[in-house]
Amino acid sequence: MQHRIIVLGAGYTGAIAAGRLAKRLRREDVAITVVNAEPDFVERVRLHQLAAGQELKPRPLREMFAGTGVELKVARVTGVDVDRRTVTVAAAGGTAELRYDTLVYALGSGWNAQGVPGTAEHAYEVASRPGALRLRERLARLHAGQTVTVVGGGLTGLEAATEFAEARPDLRVALAVRGGLGDWLAAKGRDHLRKVVAKLGITAYEHAAVTGVEADRVVTADGRAVAADVTVWTTGFAVHPIAAATTLDTTATGQIAVDATMRSVSHPDVYAVGDAAHAIGPEGRPLRMSCASGTPMAWQAADAIAARLTGGKLPNVPIRYFNQCISLGRKEGLIQFVTADDQAKPSALTGRFAAAYKELVCKGAAWGVANPTLGMPTRRRPVLRDAAAAHQVARAA
Ligand SMILES: Cc1cc2nc3c(=O)[nH]c(=O)nc-3n(C[C@H](O)[C@H](O)[C@H](O)COP(=O)(O)OP(=O)(O)OC[C@H]3O[C@@H](n4cnc5c(N)ncnc54)[C@H](O)[C@@H]3O)c2cc1C
Repeated sequence: MQHRIIVLGAGYTGAIAAGRLAKRLRREDVAITVVNAEPDFVERVRLHQLAAGQELKPRPLREMFAGTGVELKVARVTGVDVDRRTVTVAAAGGTAELRYDTLVYALGSGWNAQGVPGTAEHAYEVASRPGALRLRERLARLHAGQTVTVVGGGLTGLEAATEFAEARPDLRVALAVRGGLGDWLAAKGRDHLRKVVAKLGITAYEHAAVTGVEADRVVTADGRAVAADVTVWTTGFAVHPIAAATTLDTTATGQIAVDATMRSVSHPDVYAVGDAAHAIGPEGRPLRMSCASGTPMAWQAADAIAARLTGGKLPNVPIRYFNQCISLGRKEGLIQFVTADDQAKPSALTGRFAAAYKELVCKGAAWGVANPTLGMPTRRRPVLRDAAAAHQVARAA
């Protein structure tokens, strides 16, 4: 009997986990199925570029998994029953129920409107490909002098505002941020950010918590109104409600609570990686939703599953941060070096060199999805029947 592994989601982390498991385990021992809503791998870190009118390289998942033994099922996951160990999916041909022995949950996240009135009706987003394409089409219809207001001064908001301002110098671009502009960066990075924002003609509204979105403006908690022919909402990500609807131990935000091997703390045959998982990193802080930590989470999960099935050594690689890589348009960038727990250090790279560095990081992230074997031997190990049995016992316990 093959051990059935189902991976939900083929974004950065699901695709890496599936590919790495396929490299670690023998085909006669395991059946690996990946379920993803779209037939292509989406380079989510470039969705602001897509919205700004750039073309992204198509990356069909079928080509990516060709020859690996991983089976791709293009379908939407509609439910998971972790007690019966089944997943319900909906595809063009109807719904189906899939059974698993081990589940890797990697459904990522979407935009987080945070319940602010008017967002659903009026705001655009760049957290999903359909959202970015809708925004792209809307931006293309804007006339010179019209205003795009980006709400949110985190990494995504900064990247989006600068990308739009660079691509469309004829538009007015505004950025509404809750605190000070780049206030988590160290002085060098913050100064550079301010310089680039000014150079691109972006109007920054600081200490501007947006409490309402209307058709042509946003309003702030302190009563200011900021013009917005188009509002782009980037105030963080929210996970899909599927996990929270199960008996899995999840956080208040719906992320699956996992241990250091990315295994659910409540259901030992379920692993969660990427944005969907709540894992604790250095200094006891939760890992942030990012590729930067999602990629090592996926390696860790795949290696732990393989180790438990083959009787190998469990991975014990602490997941830490090194830098925050921020594109500021195509010609400018900012690499903020950080501590293991993601706090800004004084040093930063800026300018064209930083832009090139960030481009390399994005290329590397996509390359890593197609080549998920970094740092591991390519010899596939047999699944030990007693290890599989131990896995079942652990699940039942
Ligand atoms: C514009 C932008 C820029 C970013 N820049 C950076 C950056 O510079 N550095 C960084 O570290 N992070 C960055 N991020 C964050 C990063 O993209 C995410 O943290 C990362 O994609 C998370 O990976 P994931 O595998 O968990 O989820 P995703 O990459 O979102 O993958 C989830 C997958 O699940 C599929 N899926 C979702 N729901 C269903 C369903 N019901 N059924 C079937 N399939 C489903 C999706 O189609 C997708 O393929 C950025 C994000 C955005 C939006």
